[in-house]
Amino acid sequence: MSQIIDGKKISAEIKEEVKRNVSEWKAKGFGVCLAVVQVGRDPASCVYVRNKKKACEYTGIASRSYELSEDADQETVLSCIRALNEDPQVNGILVQLPLPPHLNEQEIIAAISPQKDVDGFHVQNAGALTVGLPGFVSCTPAGVIELLKRSGIALSGKECVVVGRSNIVGKPLALLLLQENATVTVCHSRTKNIREVTSRADILVAAVGKPNMIDDTYLKEGAVVIDVGIHRREDGSMCGDVDFEKALPHTSAITPVPGGVGPMTIAMLIKNCLKAAQIQKMQEDRAQHTS
Ligand code: NDP
Repeated sequence: MSQIIDGKKISAEIKEEVKRNVSEWKAKGFGVCLAVVQVGRDPASCVYVRNKKKACEYTGIASRSYELSEDADQETVLSCIRALNEDPQVNGILVQLPLPPHLNEQEIIAAISPQKDVDGFHVQNAGALTVGLPGFVSCTPAGVIELLKRSGIALSGKECVVVGRSNIVGKPLALLLLQENATVTVCHSRTKNIREVTSRADILVAAVGKPNMIDDTYLKEGAVVIDVGIHRREDGSMCGDVDFEKALPHTSAITPVPGGVGPMTIAMLIKNCLKAAQIQKMQEDRAQHTS
């Protein structure tokens, strides 16, 4: 029988751990603060921002909102970020994506101080992951690894196939799996004979953005299947990139949508916020020591 990986339960455990650590951190007289920058009022983004703030509140992390108007220009967004970079009270900065199309997303992400880049999107953090140096790792792929580890699924030596090569999910996830000594293949829209590739996978991760694309015909019998996709159907229900019903009988473990990878992203974000506060304090202490 397949194990249904409970992302809600695992993310709740992580939130409890962060809450405990934040409380110990506060007892030493230090705080943790996340600044959330949102441009416009895209409804899906508003839901994500609200959930991130709720998680902060629950764990004792302060959150500040910077709601800029839909037509805010590049300079307005950049100067908001520069001010947050300079603000010693702010430990983490998150710019909610996607940004309106008139803005240069790359330049905006690059303006965030890498030490406050809790989303792990800055090129310095992406580069650090590539060469195996410490830095902030993008929350969704970090959440996938945590989900696998906490479900007792070994990664070393496993054949892992990631479908999707985006900068925020597919690529960083492939690097993280490699760090865990898995053998990793990445598929994308130009991959030929994709089923031949995916049916080699002991662990298959779908981060493709196509509802229900991955069904049983893509799977090796007994594979572990992780579904990163999130889609809302017309009737309001949700589904992932994996056809759960068809895949389930052929898997040894699988994540549902909702309740799989989704909740892990926010759990890893708040974990990154605490990490940012702790690293910044260490750097401050070191700077004081050497001055
Ligand atoms: P992107 O659209 O940025 O990337 C999709 C990737 O899938 C691309 O690399 C693309 O290939 C590849 N692809 C598209 N069609 C096919 C196909 N037919 N066969 C093989 N590969 C294909 O998506 P994201 O990585 O941002 O997100 C992926 C999914 O995860 C989405 O459903 C998104 O909503 C969800 N998501 C969920 C999060 C969570 O918290 N759970 C967080 C972030 C995303 P190519 O590069 O060639 O175009």
